[in-house]
Amino acid sequence: MQVYADNAATAKIRPSALKAYIDTATQYFGNPSSLHEVGQAAKEVLENCRTKIAAAIGATAREIIFTSGGSEADNQAIFSAARLGAKKGKKKIISTAIEHHAVLHALEKLKTEGYEIVLLPVGTDGIVNVKDFETAIDENTCLVSVMLANNEIGTIQPIKEIGEICKAKKVPFHTDAVQAVGHIPVDVNDLGVDYLALSAHKFGGPRGVGALYVRAGAPLFPLVEGGAQERGKRAGTENLPAIAAMATALEESLAHLDANVKKVTKLREKLIEGLSKIPHSALNGDRKKRLAGNVSFCFEGIEGEGLLLYLSDAGISASSGSACTSGSLDPSHVLLAIGRVHDVAHGSLRLTLSEENTEEEIDYLIKAVTEVVEKIRGFSPVWRDLQSGKRQYIL
Ligand SMILES: *Cc1c(COP(=O)(O)O)cnc(C)c1O
Repeated sequence: MQVYADNAATAKIRPSALKAYIDTATQYFGNPSSLHEVGQAAKEVLENCRTKIAAAIGATAREIIFTSGGSEADNQAIFSAARLGAKKGKKKIISTAIEHHAVLHALEKLKTEGYEIVLLPVGTDGIVNVKDFETAIDENTCLVSVMLANNEIGTIQPIKEIGEICKAKKVPFHTDAVQAVGHIPVDVNDLGVDYLALSAHKFGGPRGVGALYVRAGAPLFPLVEGGAQERGKRAGTENLPAIAAMATALEESLAHLDANVKKVTKLREKLIEGLSKIPHSALNGDRKKRLAGNVSFCFEGIEGEGLLLYLSDAGISASSGSACTSGSLDPSHVLLAIGRVHDVAHGSLRLTLSEENTEEEIDYLIKAVTEVVEKIRGFSPVWRDLQSGKRQYIL
Protein backbone atom coordinates (compact mmCIF):
# COMPACT_ATOMS: atom_id res chain seq x y z
CA MET A 1 0.00 0.00 0.00
CA GLN A 2 1.20 3.52 -0.81
CA VAL A 3 0.24 6.16 1.76
CA TYR A 4 1.09 9.83 1.33
CA ALA A 5 1.15 11.34 4.81
CA ASP A 6 3.43 14.34 4.29
CA ASN A 7 0.93 17.01 3.28
CA ALA A 8 2.56 19.66 5.48
CA ALA A 9 5.73 19.33 3.37
CA THR A 10 3.72 19.71 0.19
CA ALA A 11 0.20 18.71 -0.78
CA LYS A 12 -0.70 16.95 -4.02
CA ILE A 13 -1.81 19.41 -6.69
CA ARG A 14 -5.59 19.53 -7.13
CA PRO A 15 -6.78 18.45 -10.62
CA SER A 16 -8.76 21.72 -10.89
CA ALA A 17 -5.58 23.70 -10.13
CA LEU A 18 -3.57 21.76 -12.69
CA LYS A 19 -6.28 22.43 -15.28
CA ALA A 20 -6.25 26.14 -14.44
CA TYR A 21 -2.47 26.11 -14.84
CA ILE A 22 -2.58 24.51 -18.28
CA ASP A 23 -5.54 26.56 -19.50
CA THR A 24 -3.94 29.81 -18.39
CA ALA A 25 -0.52 28.95 -19.82
CA THR A 26 -2.16 28.06 -23.13
CA GLN A 27 -4.81 30.74 -23.50
CA TYR A 28 -3.24 33.67 -21.65
CA PHE A 29 0.36 33.47 -22.78
CA GLY A 30 0.73 37.24 -23.05
CA ASN A 31 2.83 39.34 -20.70
CA PRO A 32 0.46 41.23 -18.36
CA SER A 33 2.67 44.32 -18.76
CA SER A 34 2.21 44.41 -22.56
CA LEU A 35 -0.17 47.04 -23.88
CA HIS A 36 -1.63 44.92 -26.69
CA GLU A 37 -4.81 42.91 -26.38
CA VAL A 38 -3.08 39.58 -25.70
CA GLY A 39 -1.14 41.17 -22.83
CA GLN A 40 -4.19 42.94 -21.45
CA ALA A 41 -6.19 39.69 -21.49
CA ALA A 42 -3.45 38.16 -19.30
CA LYS A 43 -3.54 41.26 -17.08
CA GLU A 44 -7.26 40.79 -16.56
CA VAL A 45 -6.75 37.17 -15.46
CA LEU A 46 -4.00 38.31 -13.09
CA GLU A 47 -6.26 40.90 -11.45
CA ASN A 48 -9.16 38.43 -11.19
CA CYS A 49 -6.85 36.04 -9.33
CA ARG A 50 -5.73 38.84 -7.03
CA THR A 51 -9.37 39.62 -6.21
CA LYS A 52 -10.11 35.94 -5.50
CA ILE A 53 -7.07 35.45 -3.23
CA ALA A 54 -7.86 38.70 -1.41
CA ALA A 55 -11.50 37.71 -0.88
CA ALA A 56 -10.42 34.32 0.50
CA ILE A 57 -8.64 36.02 3.43
CA GLY A 58 -10.89 39.06 3.89
CA ALA A 59 -8.48 41.49 2.22
CA THR A 60 -8.79 43.88 -0.73
CA ALA A 61 -7.03 43.19 -4.03
CA ARG A 62 -4.63 46.12 -3.57
CA GLU A 63 -3.30 44.47 -0.42
CA ILE A 64 -2.04 41.32 -2.20
CA ILE A 65 1.46 40.90 -3.67
CA PHE A 66 2.27 37.69 -5.54
CA THR A 67 5.55 36.03 -4.58
CA SER A 68 7.50 32.84 -5.31
CA GLY A 69 6.07 31.22 -2.18
CA GLY A 70 5.86 31.36 1.59
CA SER A 71 9.58 31.88 2.20
CA GLU A 72 9.74 34.97 0.01
CA ALA A 73 6.54 36.41 1.51
CA ASP A 74 7.89 35.93 5.06
CA ASN A 75 11.21 37.51 4.11
CA GLN A 76 9.64 40.52 2.42
CA ALA A 77 7.35 41.26 5.37
CA ILE A 78 10.16 40.93 7.91
CA PHE A 79 12.80 42.90 6.02
CA SER A 80 10.28 45.64 5.17
CA ALA A 81 9.19 46.17 8.77
CA ALA A 82 12.82 45.95 9.93
CA ARG A 83 13.94 48.57 7.43
CA LEU A 84 11.23 51.01 8.42
CA GLY A 85 12.02 50.30 12.07
CA ALA A 86 15.68 51.17 11.55
CA LYS A 87 14.67 54.49 9.96
CA LYS A 88 12.78 55.30 13.16
CA GLY A 89 15.59 54.03 15.40
CA LYS A 90 13.58 50.95 16.45
CA LYS A 91 15.50 47.72 16.07
CA LYS A 92 13.76 45.17 18.27
CA ILE A 93 11.78 42.27 16.77
CA ILE A 94 9.69 39.84 18.78
CA SER A 95 8.93 36.36 17.48
CA THR A 96 8.71 32.81 18.82
CA ALA A 97 11.00 29.80 19.22
CA ILE A 98 8.84 27.61 16.97
CA GLU A 99 8.78 29.64 13.73
CA HIS A 100 9.59 28.16 10.33
CA HIS A 101 13.18 28.67 9.15
CA ALA A 102 11.93 31.20 6.57
CA VAL A 103 11.25 33.47 9.55
CA LEU A 104 13.99 32.32 11.93
CA HIS A 105 16.82 32.62 9.41
CA ALA A 106 15.60 36.06 8.25
CA LEU A 107 15.68 37.15 11.91
CA GLU A 108 19.15 35.66 12.40
CA LYS A 109 20.35 37.73 9.45
CA LEU A 110 18.89 40.87 11.04
CA LYS A 111 20.62 39.98 14.30
CA THR A 112 23.99 40.18 12.54
CA GLU A 113 22.92 43.66 11.39
CA GLY A 114 22.41 44.86 14.93
CA TYR A 115 18.75 44.10 15.52
CA GLU A 116 17.66 42.74 18.89
CA ILE A 117 15.75 39.51 18.30
CA VAL A 118 13.53 38.14 21.07
CA LEU A 119 12.20 34.61 20.55
CA LEU A 120 9.44 33.99 23.07
CA PRO A 121 9.07 30.44 24.39
CA VAL A 122 6.04 28.19 24.06
CA GLY A 123 4.48 25.93 26.68
CA THR A 124 4.78 22.15 26.58
CA ASP A 125 1.51 22.31 24.62
CA GLY A 126 3.33 24.15 21.81
CA ILE A 127 1.36 27.37 22.23
CA VAL A 128 2.70 30.84 23.06
CA ASN A 129 1.59 32.77 26.13
CA VAL A 130 -0.24 35.96 25.07
CA LYS A 131 0.85 37.81 28.23
CA ASP A 132 4.53 37.39 27.22
CA PHE A 133 3.86 39.78 24.32
CA GLU A 134 2.45 42.46 26.66
CA THR A 135 5.71 42.35 28.57
CA ALA A 136 8.13 41.98 25.66
CA ILE A 137 6.81 44.75 23.37
CA ASP A 138 8.42 48.11 24.13
CA GLU A 139 8.94 51.45 22.38
CA ASN A 140 11.90 50.01 20.41
CA THR A 141 9.84 47.21 18.87
CA CYS A 142 9.42 47.48 15.09
CA LEU A 143 7.80 44.09 14.40
CA VAL A 144 6.06 41.13 16.00
CA SER A 145 6.02 37.93 13.92
CA VAL A 146 4.10 34.83 15.05
CA MET A 147 3.03 31.90 12.89
CA LEU A 148 -0.67 31.05 12.75
CA ALA A 149 -0.23 27.25 12.66
CA ASN A 150 2.98 25.35 13.25
CA ASN A 151 4.32 23.16 10.46
CA GLU A 152 5.81 20.46 12.70
CA ILE A 153 3.34 19.96 15.53
CA GLY A 154 0.29 21.67 14.03
CA THR A 155 -0.51 23.88 17.00
CA ILE A 156 -2.68 26.94 16.33
CA GLN A 157 -1.50 30.16 17.95
CA PRO A 158 -3.70 32.88 19.54
CA ILE A 159 -3.01 35.36 16.71
CA LYS A 160 -6.16 37.44 17.27
CA GLU A 161 -5.24 38.10 20.92
CA ILE A 162 -1.65 38.98 20.01
CA GLY A 163 -3.00 41.19 17.20
CA GLU A 164 -5.04 43.18 19.71
CA ILE A 165 -1.95 43.84 21.81
CA CYS A 166 0.08 44.89 18.74
CA LYS A 167 -2.69 47.21 17.61
CA ALA A 168 -2.95 48.84 21.04
CA LYS A 169 0.83 49.32 21.13
CA LYS A 170 0.95 50.38 17.43
CA VAL A 171 3.49 47.70 16.48
CA PRO A 172 3.36 46.07 13.00
CA PHE A 173 2.29 42.42 13.18
CA HIS A 174 3.20 39.66 10.71
CA THR A 175 1.87 36.13 10.66
CA ASP A 176 3.24 33.18 8.70
CA ALA A 177 -0.09 31.57 7.80
CA VAL A 178 1.37 29.12 5.29
CA GLN A 179 0.07 26.03 7.14
CA ALA A 180 -3.26 27.66 7.99
CA VAL A 181 -4.63 29.13 4.75
CA GLY A 182 -6.92 26.61 3.07
CA HIS A 183 -7.04 24.53 6.26
CA ILE A 184 -8.73 26.78 8.84
CA PRO A 185 -10.76 29.97 8.31
CA VAL A 186 -8.39 32.94 7.97
CA ASP A 187 -9.52 36.58 7.95
CA VAL A 188 -6.89 39.31 8.12
CA ASN A 189 -9.22 41.78 9.84
CA ASP A 190 -10.43 39.29 12.40
CA LEU A 191 -6.80 38.35 13.15
CA GLY A 192 -5.68 41.99 13.20
CA VAL A 193 -2.49 41.36 11.21
CA ASP A 194 -0.58 43.83 9.02
CA TYR A 195 1.27 41.18 7.01
CA LEU A 196 0.31 37.58 6.23
CA ALA A 197 2.26 35.00 4.20
CA LEU A 198 0.61 32.15 2.29
CA SER A 199 1.88 29.49 -0.10
CA ALA A 200 -0.03 27.61 -2.82
CA HIS A 201 1.60 24.18 -2.52
CA LYS A 202 0.34 23.72 1.04
CA PHE A 203 -3.30 23.77 -0.12
CA GLY A 204 -3.21 21.93 -3.44
CA GLY A 205 -1.73 24.59 -5.69
CA PRO A 206 1.62 24.37 -7.46
CA ARG A 207 5.01 24.83 -5.79
CA GLY A 208 6.90 28.08 -6.26
CA VAL A 209 4.02 30.53 -5.91
CA GLY A 210 2.52 32.32 -2.93
CA ALA A 211 1.32 35.69 -1.77
CA LEU A 212 1.93 38.33 0.83
CA TYR A 213 -0.95 40.30 2.30
CA VAL A 214 0.11 43.83 3.26
CA ARG A 215 -2.42 46.00 5.06
CA ALA A 216 -3.03 49.28 3.23
CA GLY A 217 -0.55 51.80 4.62
CA ALA A 218 1.93 49.26 6.00
CA PRO A 219 5.45 49.68 4.58
CA LEU A 220 6.67 47.33 1.88
CA PHE A 221 10.07 47.34 0.21
CA PRO A 222 10.97 45.11 -2.75
CA LEU A 223 13.40 42.21 -2.32
CA VAL A 224 13.75 41.94 -6.11
CA GLU A 225 14.50 45.07 -8.13
CA GLY A 226 13.57 45.41 -11.78
CA GLY A 227 10.33 46.14 -13.59
CA ALA A 228 7.28 47.80 -12.09
CA GLN A 229 5.23 44.62 -11.64
CA GLU A 230 3.18 44.27 -8.41
CA ARG A 231 3.07 48.06 -8.13
CA GLY A 232 6.85 48.20 -7.92
CA LYS A 233 7.02 45.90 -4.90
CA ARG A 234 8.10 42.71 -6.65
CA ALA A 235 9.84 42.83 -10.02
CA GLY A 236 9.67 40.03 -12.58
CA THR A 237 7.09 38.87 -15.11
CA GLU A 238 4.22 37.39 -13.13
CA ASN A 239 3.94 33.57 -13.01
CA LEU A 240 0.39 33.79 -14.30
CA PRO A 241 -0.37 30.05 -14.77
CA ALA A 242 0.81 29.32 -11.22
CA ILE A 243 -1.13 32.28 -9.82
CA ALA A 244 -4.32 31.11 -11.57
CA ALA A 245 -3.76 27.59 -10.23
CA MET A 246 -3.24 28.99 -6.71
CA ALA A 247 -6.49 30.97 -6.88
CA THR A 248 -8.39 27.89 -8.08
CA ALA A 249 -6.86 25.65 -5.39
CA LEU A 250 -7.71 28.14 -2.65
CA GLU A 251 -11.29 28.60 -3.83
CA GLU A 252 -11.75 24.85 -3.93
CA SER A 253 -10.15 24.32 -0.51
CA LEU A 254 -12.47 26.88 1.06
CA ALA A 255 -15.57 25.56 -0.71
CA HIS A 256 -15.03 22.20 1.05
CA LEU A 257 -13.35 23.46 4.21
CA ASP A 258 -15.92 22.37 6.81
CA ALA A 259 -16.47 18.93 5.31
CA ASN A 260 -12.73 18.33 4.88
CA VAL A 261 -11.87 19.47 8.41
CA LYS A 262 -14.51 17.12 9.78
CA LYS A 263 -13.29 14.19 7.72
CA VAL A 264 -9.57 14.77 8.37
CA THR A 265 -10.11 15.37 12.11
CA LYS A 266 -11.79 11.97 12.35
CA LEU A 267 -8.82 10.31 10.63
CA ARG A 268 -6.40 12.21 12.88
CA GLU A 269 -8.21 11.12 16.04
CA LYS A 270 -8.11 7.50 14.94
CA LEU A 271 -4.40 7.73 14.14
CA ILE A 272 -3.55 9.43 17.45
CA GLU A 273 -5.51 6.82 19.35
CA GLY A 274 -3.73 3.99 17.53
CA LEU A 275 -0.20 5.38 17.91
CA SER A 276 -0.78 6.24 21.58
CA LYS A 277 -0.91 2.49 22.27
CA ILE A 278 2.80 2.21 21.43
CA PRO A 279 4.59 2.07 24.82
CA HIS A 280 6.73 5.08 25.79
CA SER A 281 5.33 7.35 23.10
CA ALA A 282 3.81 10.82 23.31
CA LEU A 283 1.85 13.16 21.08
CA ASN A 284 3.60 16.49 20.43
CA GLY A 285 1.52 19.64 20.77
CA ASP A 286 -1.90 20.39 22.16
CA ARG A 287 -4.45 17.62 21.61
CA LYS A 288 -7.22 19.94 20.36
CA LYS A 289 -5.73 23.30 19.30
CA ARG A 290 -4.03 21.77 16.28
CA LEU A 291 -4.53 21.47 12.53
CA ALA A 292 -7.01 18.78 11.51
CA GLY A 293 -4.36 16.80 9.64
CA ASN A 294 -1.37 16.98 12.00
CA VAL A 295 -0.17 13.97 13.99
CA SER A 296 3.28 14.42 15.56
CA PHE A 297 4.75 11.84 17.92
CA CYS A 298 7.92 11.09 19.82
CA PHE A 299 8.93 7.48 20.49
CA GLU A 300 11.57 6.83 23.09
CA GLY A 301 14.64 4.72 22.26
CA ILE A 302 14.62 5.17 18.47
CA GLU A 303 16.10 7.39 15.75
CA GLY A 304 13.61 9.25 13.57
CA GLU A 305 15.79 8.81 10.47
CA GLY A 306 15.69 5.00 10.71
CA LEU A 307 11.95 5.14 11.27
CA LEU A 308 11.44 7.19 8.10
CA LEU A 309 13.51 4.81 5.97
CA TYR A 310 11.66 1.71 7.15
CA LEU A 311 8.33 3.47 6.67
CA SER A 312 9.42 4.51 3.18
CA ASP A 313 10.13 0.82 2.43
CA ALA A 314 6.57 0.13 3.56
CA GLY A 315 5.25 2.66 1.02
CA ILE A 316 4.67 5.42 3.57
CA SER A 317 5.70 9.04 2.96
CA ALA A 318 6.23 10.68 6.35
CA SER A 319 8.59 13.19 7.89
CA SER A 320 10.52 13.55 11.11
CA GLY A 321 9.94 17.24 11.56
CA SER A 322 10.09 19.87 8.89
CA ALA A 323 11.45 18.96 5.48
CA CYS A 324 14.30 21.36 6.22
CA THR A 325 15.35 19.64 9.46
CA SER A 326 15.18 16.11 8.12
CA GLY A 327 18.48 15.09 6.66
CA SER A 328 20.40 16.95 9.34
CA LEU A 329 21.21 15.40 12.69
CA ASP A 330 20.11 18.39 14.77
CA PRO A 331 16.88 17.66 16.59
CA SER A 332 13.98 19.89 15.66
CA HIS A 333 13.99 23.33 17.31
CA VAL A 334 10.22 23.03 17.70
CA LEU A 335 10.43 19.77 19.69
CA LEU A 336 13.19 21.22 21.87
CA ALA A 337 11.00 24.31 22.43
CA ILE A 338 8.14 22.18 23.81
CA GLY A 339 10.57 20.64 26.27
CA ARG A 340 11.52 17.37 24.59
CA VAL A 341 15.10 16.43 25.52
CA HIS A 342 17.54 15.70 22.64
CA ASP A 343 17.24 11.89 22.78
CA VAL A 344 13.44 11.99 22.76
CA ALA A 345 13.28 14.71 20.09
CA HIS A 346 15.40 12.48 17.82
CA GLY A 347 12.69 9.82 17.84
CA SER A 348 10.06 11.99 16.22
CA LEU A 349 7.55 11.29 13.47
CA ARG A 350 5.23 13.71 11.69
CA LEU A 351 2.29 12.34 9.72
CA THR A 352 0.20 15.00 8.00
CA LEU A 353 -3.10 13.91 6.49
CA SER A 354 -5.45 15.27 3.85
CA GLU A 355 -9.04 14.49 2.87
CA GLU A 356 -7.65 12.04 0.32
CA ASN A 357 -6.45 9.66 3.04
CA THR A 358 -8.78 6.79 3.96
CA GLU A 359 -9.67 4.80 7.09
CA GLU A 360 -7.86 1.79 5.57
CA GLU A 361 -4.72 3.89 5.19
CA ILE A 362 -4.93 4.92 8.85
CA ASP A 363 -5.15 1.26 9.87
CA TYR A 364 -2.11 0.55 7.72
CA LEU A 365 -0.19 3.51 9.21
CA ILE A 366 -0.90 2.37 12.77
CA LYS A 367 0.19 -1.19 11.99
CA ALA A 368 3.33 -0.17 10.09
CA VAL A 369 4.52 2.42 12.64
CA THR A 370 3.91 0.04 15.55
CA GLU A 371 5.91 -2.71 13.84
CA VAL A 372 8.77 -0.47 12.75
CA VAL A 373 9.13 1.16 16.19
CA GLU A 374 9.30 -2.32 17.73
CA LYS A 375 11.85 -3.47 15.16
CA ILE A 376 14.15 -0.46 15.66
CA ARG A 377 13.92 -0.76 19.42
CA GLY A 378 15.00 -4.40 19.04
CA PHE A 379 18.49 -3.33 18.00
CA SER A 380 18.72 0.04 19.79
CA PRO A 381 21.35 0.22 22.58
CA VAL A 382 19.39 3.11 24.12
CA TRP A 383 16.25 0.98 24.29
CA ARG A 384 18.26 -1.87 25.88
CA ASP A 385 19.53 0.52 28.57
CA LEU A 386 16.00 1.79 29.20
CA GLN A 387 14.67 -1.73 29.57
CA SER A 388 17.47 -2.86 31.88
CA GLY A 389 16.99 0.20 34.07
CA LYS A 390 20.42 1.67 33.24
CA ARG A 391 18.55 4.69 31.89
CA GLN A 392 15.30 6.19 33.08
CA TYR A 393 12.29 6.42 30.78
CA ILE A 394 11.17 9.96 30.08
CA LEU A 395 7.95 9.19 28.21
C1 LIG B 1 6.19 25.53 3.82
C2 LIG B 1 6.26 26.63 4.77
C3 LIG B 1 6.94 27.82 4.47
C4 LIG B 1 7.70 28.00 3.18
O1 LIG B 1 6.84 28.09 2.07
P1 LIG B 1 7.46 27.86 0.61
O2 LIG B 1 6.33 28.20 -0.31
O3 LIG B 1 7.85 26.42 0.53
O4 LIG B 1 8.60 28.79 0.46
C5 LIG B 1 6.93 28.83 5.40
N1 LIG B 1 6.30 28.70 6.57
C6 LIG B 1 5.65 27.57 6.90
C7 LIG B 1 4.95 27.50 8.21
C8 LIG B 1 5.60 26.50 6.03
O5 LIG B 1 4.96 25.39 6.37
